[in-house]
Amino acid sequence: MEETVVKKIAILGSTGSIGTQTLDIVRTYGDLEVTALAAGSNIRLLEQQIREFRPRLAAVWEEDLAQQLREKVRDLPVKVCSGMEGLLEVATEQAADILVTAVVGMLGIRPTIAAIQAGKDIALANKETLVTAGHLIMPMAEEYGVSILPVDSEHSAIFQCLQGAGDNPVSKILLTASGGPFRGRSRAELEGVTLEEALKHPNWSMGRKITIDSATMVNKGLEVIEAKWLFGVSPRQIEVLVQPQSIIHSMVEFADGAVIAQLGTADMRLPIQYALYYPKRRQLPGKRLDFTQISAITLERPDMETFEGLALAFEACERGGNLPTALNAANERAVALFLERKISFLEIPAMIRACMEHCRFVDHPTVEEILATEQEAYEYIESRW
Ligand code: NDP
Ligand code: MG
Repeated sequence: MEETVVKKIAILGSTGSIGTQTLDIVRTYGDLEVTALAAGSNIRLLEQQIREFRPRLAAVWEEDLAQQLREKVRDLPVKVCSGMEGLLEVATEQAADILVTAVVGMLGIRPTIAAIQAGKDIALANKETLVTAGHLIMPMAEEYGVSILPVDSEHSAIFQCLQGAGDNPVSKILLTASGGPFRGRSRAELEGVTLEEALKHPNWSMGRKITIDSATMVNKGLEVIEAKWLFGVSPRQIEVLVQPQSIIHSMVEFADGAVIAQLGTADMRLPIQYALYYPKRRQLPGKRLDFTQISAITLERPDMETFEGLALAFEACERGGNLPTALNAANERAVALFLERKISFLEIPAMIRACMEHCRFVDHPTVEEILATEQEAYEYIESRW
């Protein structure tokens, strides 16, 4: 017998790492209904997802792929759209209660804003949106009375640590990091690292862009900015700690010195399902932490000289305005070039630094100014590299 539907969900980026794990959860519990799905170009997988989950709306980026998909799913009552219009339609699909934002990059800004204005709660994986437009999105969520539920594991951990905290303010957020595949190396040792080495994350299996961001530690920098917006703290209240075993997913310190941590195995399904079913916890099949088998939980300071991207993110976080956009846009382009083997690993932070110095500073940027800064960063990189 079918379970009663408890929530209707739409997903941006359904064919990716977070998107497919979200659909695993839908498959496991059977009480979520998928109303809309959007992907970039993987129409083979998207077709399978449409057949299995029966959304009424689907989107792919390019119109010719959308046309091919329309042909493939002609037998089903699903509308297929394309481009930014398609993403906006999926984001605002009428029946959905919650939108899972699992696309990569600043592309998520406009659909996320549209979803909030349509009254949807947001299960937020797409950190680049909050990094660049958090000053617009957080007040907007409040205005429209929608919840932004973190999917990023560290932010989910912090959110879980805050349950029951009442009005007690946070003194400090202790944001943990695995340190990535190059932890402990010197700058000189990073000179010649290859794409393959950078793609080998020690603990998590994720999409390619975030895996490179973890190797540069820019990911942790983006997460510092993400934490500032989600939890309303100042950058000085955020401390990054390297915890290589990825057992502690982050911690919160209160005024009396009490520290609350969330621990668990490295399984993204936990934060995803916590966001989807909040405040309920559901049975999650899979491995459990066995403390008798853990040889050590170690904590160390990050090396911000070697992993300069993290230091640059703290600077962007502190100075605000459109600097996080300059940092993020430069990083998005630099990572794409590194994935195409066109630049070296250390050129990633170099491009970020150059763009942060180059882009004209705008305080409290509008969406248009954010997108203009993105363009400015892209054009600068194009002209210099
Ligand atoms: P993936 O690269 O695995 O997936 C990206 C998804 O976005 C794919 O479905 C892709 O579609 C889709 N997409 C790409 N371009 C477009 C486009 N133009 N229009 C519509 N859809 C598009 O990324 P992840 O799942 O790893 O990451 C998603 C977000 O979640 C990122 O912001 C990341 O930082 C964040 N995150 C991810 C974690 C993880 O464990 N993976 C952990 C914490 C945060 P297609 O494949 O069809 O091209
Ligand atoms: Mg994370």
